[in-house]
Amino acid sequence: MLTFLLSCDERREQQWEHMSWWAFTDADARSEKYRRFLVDGLTRSLVAAQARHMSARTGGMILWQILFDMVDRSRPVDRVLDGPTSEVWIEPWVRHLEQRGVRFHRRHEVTGIRCSDGRVSTVVLTAADGDGSTGGVVEITADHFVSAMPVERLDVLITPELKAAEPRLAGLKRLITRWMNGVIFFLDRDVPLAHGHALFVDSEWALTAISQKQFWPDVDLSARGDGTVRGILSVDVSDWYTPGRRTGKPAIQCTEREIREEVWGQILDHIDDGSLDRANIVDWFLDPAIGFPDPAVVTNAEPLLINTAGSLPDRPPAATAIPNLFLAADFVRTNTDLATMEAANEAARAAVNGILDADGSGAARCTIHPLHEPESLRPLRDLDAVRWRVERSLGAVFGAGRNATVDLARMLPDAVLGAARLFR
Ligand SMILES: Cc1cc2nc3c(=O)[nH]c(=O)nc-3n(C[C@H](O)[C@H](O)[C@H](O)COP(=O)(O)OP(=O)(O)OC[C@H]3O[C@@H](n4cnc5c(N)ncnc54)[C@H](O)[C@@H]3O)c2cc1C
Repeated sequence: MLTFLLSCDERREQQWEHMSWWAFTDADARSEKYRRFLVDGLTRSLVAAQARHMSARTGGMILWQILFDMVDRSRPVDRVLDGPTSEVWIEPWVRHLEQRGVRFHRRHEVTGIRCSDGRVSTVVLTAADGDGSTGGVVEITADHFVSAMPVERLDVLITPELKAAEPRLAGLKRLITRWMNGVIFFLDRDVPLAHGHALFVDSEWALTAISQKQFWPDVDLSARGDGTVRGILSVDVSDWYTPGRRTGKPAIQCTEREIREEVWGQILDHIDDGSLDRANIVDWFLDPAIGFPDPAVVTNAEPLLINTAGSLPDRPPAATAIPNLFLAADFVRTNTDLATMEAANEAARAAVNGILDADGSGAARCTIHPLHEPESLRPLRDLDAVRWRVERSLGAVFGAGRNATVDLARMLPDAVLGAARLFR
């Protein structure tokens, strides 16, 4: 972790980005517990990424942000909404936008992005039911277009014309997504579990959970549904590819009922003090993005981007080379650098700034926040920047003998520091 923290930006982008978190943490040479709890456990549970695939740059950066939050008592490490997401966030936001004149085409999805003379000319919307009835297709023309679609949806709409105008859009195809979807258990009594998220680090399906009621002071559950619900256990399943102990199958091969049984069972494996009882389940809910088109197939309409090693160059910026196309989604290249709501938010800020720039507007720009780094360590990162440049130039000069020259370069700063100490 210190190696990462003391590395300069160039080393992080050009060396650690291309190494997996697994290799960076030397997991092969460590104990099973080290691998399970410190290497794979965190990446798998928090972001559905196996440490063997996740970029060391992303892993190191994000883990440090969590650690900084843990040691800074003025900032809570775990922040959650104070009510159901739709009610406290999405719906008020939609109302706000509508009051500002935004018109939503709720039944439509984007099915085409036309490009001519290096600009987006029209965006084609098609009614989601696809029945071809009047009003099924709408063509939108505008001064600027902001795409907030997920990577796997935008990628299929990228035409050769768009790629010619913005070659970096070709990289979308190489970005990797994995499954991470939720299951909710509605209980007839409240079981707070922990005052924050619970990580079932060594569960086969990489479960995390939160018991919601304690964070929703203004929500009267008894006034909802049939009035019997008192507690809500919301669970993320972050590993859909490892077999569960009960079913012997990965979630991706399970029926809806098997998913429910396995998830509940894996939670009970960890919480065996009797506070959770199957008899308390009033109802349950599986993310509707998970589909079962036939008994042998499970589909997922909403996978999650994974920052795999070496994927950074394939992530385009919010302001593209197409002067009227901007991207505002979690796969965009941002400081946040992890598929989260913060990353999507930062990309949206950058997209807004891009539009203001394109219009030559004098309006104030949105703030883009850097990730936290201790200022006191800057001199050491600067020193590493010198070291990095020396390593690079020696590597370039000596070509195949690079390893030896890198070792030599590593010694140089220490030699300089040693000499300085002697001199003083
Ligand atoms: C189970 C789970 C738990 C998570 N937990 C957290 C967390 O605790 N904290 C956190 O910060 N992040 C979390 N994330 C990640 C976070 O939800 C995403 O990174 C974030 O929502 C991405 O925002 P976005 O705007 O880029 O995309 P989305 O939120 O995916 O929005 C994209 C929108 O585009 C729409 N769309 C798709 N295709 C089309 C089309 N063709 N035409 C028109 N519209 C289209 C979709 O319907 C959707 O509304 C979690 C993700 C998952 C899956």
